[in-house]
Parts: sequence; C-alpha cells; structure tokens
Amino acid sequence: MSEIFDLGIIGAGPAGYTAALHAAACGLSVVMFEKDMIGGVCLNRGCIPTKTILHSAELYKQLKSSQELGIYAEKLEYDFSKIIEHKNNTVARLRKGLELALKNAKVQIVNAKAELLDKNTIKADDKIYNCKKTIVAAGSEPKSLTGLEYDHKFILNSDDILNLKELPESILIIGSGAIGVEWARILAAFGVEVTVLEAADRLLPLADAEISRRIERIFKSEKIKFYTSTTVEKTAGEKIYLSNEKEFTAKKILVAIGRTPCIKQKKEGVLYIGDVCGEIQLAHFAIKQAIAEVRGIPFNKFYVPSVVYGCPEIAWVGKREQDLQEGTYQKVTLPVSALGKSHCDNCIDGIIKILVQDDKIVGAHIVSKEASALIQQILIAMQNEIPVDKLKELCFAHPTYSEGIFECLFRI
Ligand SMILES: Cc1cc2nc3c(=O)[nH]c(=O)nc-3n(C[C@H](O)[C@H](O)[C@H](O)COP(=O)(O)OP(=O)(O)OC[C@H]3O[C@@H](n4cnc5c(N)ncnc54)[C@H](O)[C@@H]3O)c2cc1C
Repeated sequence: MSEIFDLGIIGAGPAGYTAALHAAACGLSVVMFEKDMIGGVCLNRGCIPTKTILHSAELYKQLKSSQELGIYAEKLEYDFSKIIEHKNNTVARLRKGLELALKNAKVQIVNAKAELLDKNTIKADDKIYNCKKTIVAAGSEPKSLTGLEYDHKFILNSDDILNLKELPESILIIGSGAIGVEWARILAAFGVEVTVLEAADRLLPLADAEISRRIERIFKSEKIKFYTSTTVEKTAGEKIYLSNEKEFTAKKILVAIGRTPCIKQKKEGVLYIGDVCGEIQLAHFAIKQAIAEVRGIPFNKFYVPSVVYGCPEIAWVGKREQDLQEGTYQKVTLPVSALGKSHCDNCIDGIIKILVQDDKIVGAHIVSKEASALIQQILIAMQNEIPVDKLKELCFAHPTYSEGIFECLFRI
C-alpha cells in the first residue's frame, strides 16, 4: 500500500531541506528523498568543505607573515591530510545536526534515488509515495569542457579537488568564477604554483569591472598567474598549450566553469527550486526560494548578494557600474586603508564602492575583510529603499569596517 504525504521533496540540499523543515513546522507531513548525503552539494561538496579548507589556508598564510606583528611561529608547516580530516569532521558534524533537525521535525527521509512518475507520485526503492504536492530540488553538477573531459586524476572537477590526498606542485584552474577564485587562493596559500585561465576579458566576469581589476591585484600579490581572454588549445600529457600561444606544464587541471542542472526536463504541476532551476546557483538563493514557496514570504532576486571568500573577501549586490548609463548615477569609493580597523587587522587591501541613483543605493561592491557582513548591511538599506540622508543618521561602531559605509555616505 502506498503512503500519502502532504509534500514530497526530491533532493536534500539547501533547497530541499529548507522546504522540508519549514513545511513540517507549518504542520505538513513531509517525505524527502536523497540518493546521496543529506545536505546536498553545499554541505558535502561545496560551500562548507571549501570554506573550511580556506580557513586553514588563510591561517597558514597569516602565520607565515606574522613576525611583523610580533608572533613567531617556528618550523611552521602544514599537514594536508589533517586539514582534510578537519574538513571531513566539520562536514560530518554539521550533517549530523541537520539530520537530527529533520528527525525532530518528523520529516521522513528515504535514502534512495527517487523517480518522479507524475506530479503526485514518486517512486523510490520500488515503493510508491503519493504526495499532494511535489518539490524537485535535485541540484546541479559540474559542467564539463569539450576536449578536457574529467578523468578525475589529471582533469578534476570541484568534487575531485576536495578529495585530493596531497597537493600537486602546480595546477591550471580553468574559470575565474567564485569556485575558481577561491581554489586559486587556497592552493596558492599552500605554495602550489597556480595559473588561472579566463575566457572572458576579465577575472570574475560577473562582478563589477572595477572589482575585477582589484582581483588582478590580489592575484598578483598572492603570486597567482592568470590569463584573460584565453582558453586551452590542447594538452599533451602535462603540457598545456594555450590560445595565446603560451605553453607550460601543470600537474593537475581544475575545470571550474560553472554548473548545470541535474534535470533538464520539467514536469508541469511540480515545483522546481534551487540549482536545478539553473538560475542563480547559490545556496542562499535556494534557501530563499524554498521559504518563498512553503511560507509564501516573497523575495526579490535583485537583492541576492554574491560573496567570494578569502582574505580580503569580495562581495556585491545590485547593479554594477557597467549596468548603469553614464550621467544617471553617483559613485563613491573608499579605500579600506582609510579605516582604522583595517590597520589594526593588518588587512588594508580593499575598496568599498557604492552606486546611488535618486538618493538610493542601487549597487554596492566591496573588497575587504568582512565584506560578506558589510554587504548585508547595505542590502537592508537597499531593499528597504532607505534614502542616503536617512542612512546618515545611523550610528556605526568604531573601529569597524562598517564605518566605511558611513564614510561613503558623506562622500556622495
Ligand atoms: C565548490 C563549491 C563551492 C560553493 N560555495 C558556495 C558558497 O560559498 N555560497 C553559496 O551560496 N553557494 C555555494 N555553492 C553553490 C551551492 O552549493 C549550491 O547553490 C547549493 O548546494 C544548491 O542547493 P540545492 O538544494 O539546489 O542543490 P544541491 O545542494 O545540489 O542538492 C541536491 C540534492 O539532490 C539529490 N538528488 C538529485 N537527484 C535525486 C534523485 N533523483 N533522488 C534523490 N536525490 C536526488 C542530490 O544527491 C543532492 O544531494 C558552491 C558550490 C560548489 C560546487
């Protein structure tokens, strides 16, 4: 006999588990199917493991240059296998917490690949589940590059690189989106010779063009080589030939050119949320979509922030300068070095850039330590359309990076 649920969810990543927890909190009976691990890409192969390794890389980098701060770390070295063990423990701890939360919420989990038969019927492990409503949150997978198909040994994707037992001497990273930039910085911090290739004419092509130029500066200071408007012509063993006629060898290639939805064909009457939509492939977008669908709390896609982690962080929201017509906007920039806190932290590299139209902030682009937190403050002002004059009334604590926002407001 088949069971009947109020809601059936395929995929237990951020989109799926958020929908499940909120639906259960609203009193619905929920069944969620997961063919791999609870938490999806974000928790198991994406945001969390990458940021955990990045933290180790940043700590190592900081300690290497800590002498000028009076901190002497003798015989400083790293053990990559321990770093991976710590990453695995962090992921496992968070996954356990999430599994417990789902259990406490009485979400029924089916650890199996689910097949959507029709909008109200899901099959898994030869069992049929009837669902009054169905959400597909099946996520995405790494895009592959013709001619450089993954062999998972020399040509890697973002899953493979998380499973390396030891670091290569050198690596070519294809793509300078968030994943490419974060891995370039992680690997360079550990002393790997990193070269980044970008087919577009600037790094991090989705960012504001001025921010792309700042990333070039960061890459230079972190000894990361890069070529823009460049692709791979061919490889022969470890030898790589580029479209700009340069050639070099690399022990590994990481292809980080974006992700593609796991499901291409959509069924009518079914809700598709998260990466599977192929729209904005970010965990917080997936989470907001889930909440919008289950709770009916609307959100505006214009106000979805982007963050690239590292030190300094890179964060932005809203319009980029290249999206605006000359003469229709005001622009204010502040070097992070103008802030006392950046000197206290020995982290003076960065910029806060705010774009204003009709006395309202329409875009913000930040390279700074804590940029991820700063962008959130600006986002609140933007989404609530608070005029610049009103924002000037706010009191910002000292010394903080937030003071940079305050300083910018008086320069408009
Ligand atoms: C290296 C990396 C770093 C990232 N860093 C960030 C970051 O810092 N910030 C950020 O916001 N985003 C980041 N992302 C993106 C983020 O991970 C995704 O946007 C997010 O995981 C999407 O959530 P989702 O629920 O839509 O899909 P997923 O997390 O992909 O989950 C989908 C789940 O569905 C399951 N599934 C699929 N088909 C079936 C089926 N037929 N039956 C049962 N189960 C099925 C899959 O096994 C998977 O667990 C990163 C991604 C990567 C790869």
